Amino acid sequence: MSHRKCGNPVVLVSFSNRPIMSKRQAELPLEDNFPGSPASKKVRVEEDPESDPRNGAVPAQRASSQELEQDDRNGSNILAAADIEGEGLREGEEDNAGSSDIDEDAPAISAPKRQSAPMEGYGDLYLDTINRGVLDFDFEKLCSVSLSNINVYACLVCGKYFQGRGPKSHAYFHALEVGHHVFINMGIKKVFVLPEGYEAKNQSLDDIKYVVDPHYTKDQVVKLDKEVHDAWDLSGSRYRPGFVGMNNIKANDYLNVVVQLLAHVHPIRNFFLLHEFPTPGTPQLALRFSTLVRKLWNPKAFRSHVSPHELLQEIALRSSKRFTLTQQSDPVDFMSWFLNNLHLSLGGSKKPSSTPTSIVQAAFQGQLRIESQAITAHSDTQNARLVFTESGTINSQVTPFLILTLDLPPTPLFQSTNRESIIPQIPLTTLLNKYNGITASEKLAHRVRHRLLHPLPPYLLFHIKRFSKNRFVSERNPTIVTFPSPRSLDMSPYVEPNPQIWPPGEPIMYDLVANIILDPTVAAPGATEDAADKGVSAASGAGGAPSTSAGAGAGSEKVSWLVQLHDKAMSAENTRHQPSEATEPQQRGPEWLEVQDLFVKRAESETLFTREGYLMVWERRKTPGKKGKGRA
Ligand SMILES: [Zn+2]
Repeated sequence: MSHRKCGNPVVLVSFSNRPIMSKRQAELPLEDNFPGSPASKKVRVEEDPESDPRNGAVPAQRASSQELEQDDRNGSNILAAADIEGEGLREGEEDNAGSSDIDEDAPAISAPKRQSAPMEGYGDLYLDTINRGVLDFDFEKLCSVSLSNINVYACLVCGKYFQGRGPKSHAYFHALEVGHHVFINMGIKKVFVLPEGYEAKNQSLDDIKYVVDPHYTKDQVVKLDKEVHDAWDLSGSRYRPGFVGMNNIKANDYLNVVVQLLAHVHPIRNFFLLHEFPTPGTPQLALRFSTLVRKLWNPKAFRSHVSPHELLQEIALRSSKRFTLTQQSDPVDFMSWFLNNLHLSLGGSKKPSSTPTSIVQAAFQGQLRIESQAITAHSDTQNARLVFTESGTINSQVTPFLILTLDLPPTPLFQSTNRESIIPQIPLTTLLNKYNGITASEKLAHRVRHRLLHPLPPYLLFHIKRFSKNRFVSERNPTIVTFPSPRSLDMSPYVEPNPQIWPPGEPIMYDLVANIILDPTVAAPGATEDAADKGVSAASGAGGAPSTSAGAGAGSEKVSWLVQLHDKAMSAENTRHQPSEATEPQQRGPEWLEVQDLFVKRAESETLFTREGYLMVWERRKTPGKKGKGRA
């Protein structure tokens, strides 16, 4: 919950505001704070134009490395506002040419020497001041002073972000002011000691670099679903990588469950774990989602939860505040928006395409046929009633889908004395009949029939439509959707036969991977007990004011969201460790886990359908020995 990035701007604000000509004044606070400190000396040396070699030739070696270029470019960005006189060049030069130029001009009083390397035997200097416990790289990388996101370093002692590392940079002053000396560049993941400026190369820093940006080999990714490897965080708590909590900063649980779900759809997960995104060139949405997925599966994490803060910032920006961390939204609305935007940010085609143009389409996109018949109403005046006639022409159209909507039957309006006993239930297969091509629904004076088409996608997203809205009321339908098992859902009855792709009558098996659940028991303050209790209707807005927010959480009814996830590796291990003659199953661990914000707990597979499922993802089972039918 901490917004630690906000730092103390006191000294540096005076710097950035100072007029160009009055540099000397700016030295005062530093001199006051650090009498005789090398800092003041250093600054004075810097500001003497005569002795400033930077006005002359640029040292040769500085052009070499990418990071210097970056420093340079950024330097000019950062400092332009504060100080226009060629400040841009300073930082980069200082990195390399530092020690020599100071030696020439520096008086006997010790100046902080810029060093390209630590002094012999002092390679580990300051490394013991690093405090891993305060490091949290999940928050947006903004300098705590300038609020810029360019060339940002994290102080490894206090965890705050600062821009730049050259003299005059915010990180540099932080080092002088507070005495924190070790910083990591968030982009290139190199650690520097300031004010000296040399790179600290020590293997003991590798764990920090890994936490900044976890990465995986193909081999490691393959094993994620086969072998259980326990992991321990800094506090010594055990956690399962991939099954960790996600911070609900304010009201972003709707987003957390969607991210968790997608991070367990294997093609999506594997793509974002392994793909090397070109930077620059990749939109932030894809980059930040990738980082979050990598952190979710991090086997060497410092803490056993993640924060979606960076991704949320980008989503709020790209959705023009439609999806934010302060206002709860409908997970399905968000999912639709996110899948489309992720698809586009990965370079997917805007036009409909029969072959997938992104990993999003490859995982979820299928096609369905919609047949519609116009219905006309005639008034039969003799008998004083309306007569409906179906048109003889049937309009048939094929359309792609990413999410299938399943409609719940209306809930009975009566209430029994024992409310709990009357929560209606309906089998998932009954809801799926919407797609059998026979069952018709009526929509805008049309009779409509749906049927799925071969090939079905590798993953099916089912949206159980619980919210209906009219002008005044947002209603939630609490019907429980049942299915006998999270395994072996046969989708073949809902697909139009196509013998060329799939033998008619052959089942098409899907297994549940993740299930987003609406939890009505957590009601927002102001929601009446009655509404939360019966779960049926909650008027929007306490004073009858029409709600402006969409979908779930609309009006006074606030619900919370959680997700149940299948642990495939645990499932595999449980199967492997099953002694053949044992009568009682021996479980190494739970195969289903339930994540609600920061909390992770075991979920019994039997309880998967006793809650209000809202968005499910089912995975198509691979059929051994059916060549070329994999995606049928
Ligand atoms: Zn610090």
